[in-house]
Amino acid sequence: MKDSHGRTIDYMRISITDRCNLRCKYCMPEELPSIPHEKILRFEEILHLCRLAGELGIHKFKVTGGEPLVRKNCLKFLKDLKELPATEQVTLTTNGTLLSEYLPELKRIGLDGINISLDTLNEQTFEQITGRPEFSKVMDAIIACQASGIRTKVNSVLLQDVNKDEFLQLVCLARTYQVDVRFIEIMPIGFGQQFKGCSRQELLNILSETYPDHVQVHEHRGNGPATYIHLPGFKGCIGFIDAIHGKFCDSCNRVRLTSDGILKLCLYYQNGIDLRSMLRAGDPDSSIRAAMEQAIFRKPSEHQFHLSALEGPAEERRMSQIGG
Ligand code: SAM
Ligand code: SF4
Repeated sequence: MKDSHGRTIDYMRISITDRCNLRCKYCMPEELPSIPHEKILRFEEILHLCRLAGELGIHKFKVTGGEPLVRKNCLKFLKDLKELPATEQVTLTTNGTLLSEYLPELKRIGLDGINISLDTLNEQTFEQITGRPEFSKVMDAIIACQASGIRTKVNSVLLQDVNKDEFLQLVCLARTYQVDVRFIEIMPIGFGQQFKGCSRQELLNILSETYPDHVQVHEHRGNGPATYIHLPGFKGCIGFIDAIHGKFCDSCNRVRLTSDGILKLCLYYQNGIDLRSMLRAGDPDSSIRAAMEQAIFRKPSEHQFHLSALEGPAEERRMSQIGG
C-alpha cells in the first residue's frame, strides 16, 4: 500500500524475541530485564498479523530479534510465514552463532536470504564487542552459507576506536566469499548513543585509497536502503547503510512489528499501535486491518535522529527490542 507521502510500503521487519545470546556493547551490553513471556506475541498471533499485513500489500518479511534463532520453534514459524498466501519473501537477520545447524532446514524451507552480523575478524575484538567467545561459530556459518546457496549478506557496524581499523579486512570478505558486505552507520538508539560511528563518505575515502577503480552499482539489490559499490575481482558487493548522514527516508518501504506486538512506523519514534491488545481483545480482522492501514498511511515522513533526546519524541526501546 502507499502511505500519505506516496511511498510504497511492502516490507515488514518482525522481531520475534527481545532475548539474545550475545551482549553487543552498542545493543544489549548487559543483563537487562526481558519482556515477560505473556507479553510476547505467540507465533500464531504474529502469523495472523502477517496475513493481515499481506492483505495490505506487505509481501516481504524480515525476521529478526534479539536473536531470532534463540526462540524455540523459530524454523517452523519461518516455514509457516513463507507459506502464507501473500508472502513473496522471507529473510532472516541473525548473529550467526546458532546458524550452521539450522542451514539445511532453512534451505528446505526456501528461506530467501540471510543477513549475518559480524563486526570484526579478530577473535579477541569479537569477544570485546559481543561479550562472548563465539567468533569461530559465526565465521563457520558464513562459510556454510556458501555451500547452502542461500543468498547471504554480512552486516557490520563500525565504531570509532573499536573496530574501524578493520574496515578493509571486512571488505575483503566479499572477495573471498560470495557475500555482500554492508556497513551500517550506528544509530543513536539505546546503547548506540554511547558510540561514534562511521559515515559512508568517511569509509569511501578510505576505500578509494586502496581501490581507486571501484564502481557504483546502479541496479537495486535487496529490499533495503543500502547503496552499493563493486570492486574489481570481488565476488560480492560492498554496501553502505548511511542512516544518519545519508538520510533515505524518501524511499522508506518498511514498518516494524516488535516482539510485544507494537506496529512501529518509523525507527526513530517511540509510538506505534498496540496490535497485541487488539488481537487479545478479540477485535475482528476488519478492525485490526483498518487500524494497521490507517497507521501505515500516517507513517512519519522522516526520522529526526539529528535532534537530541530532549528535543524529540525519540525511541526509548533498545535496538534488541526493535530488531534493527
Ligand atoms: N541478533 C541479530 C543480529 O545481530 O543480526 C538480529 C537483531 S540486531 C538488533 C540487527 C542488527 O542491528 C545487527 O546487525 C546489529 O549490528 C544492528 N544494530 C544494533 N544496534 C544498532 C544501532 N544502535 N545502530 C545501528 N545498528 C544497530
Ligand atoms: Fe544480540 Fe544482535 Fe543485539 Fe548483538 S546486535 S546483542 S547479536 S540482538
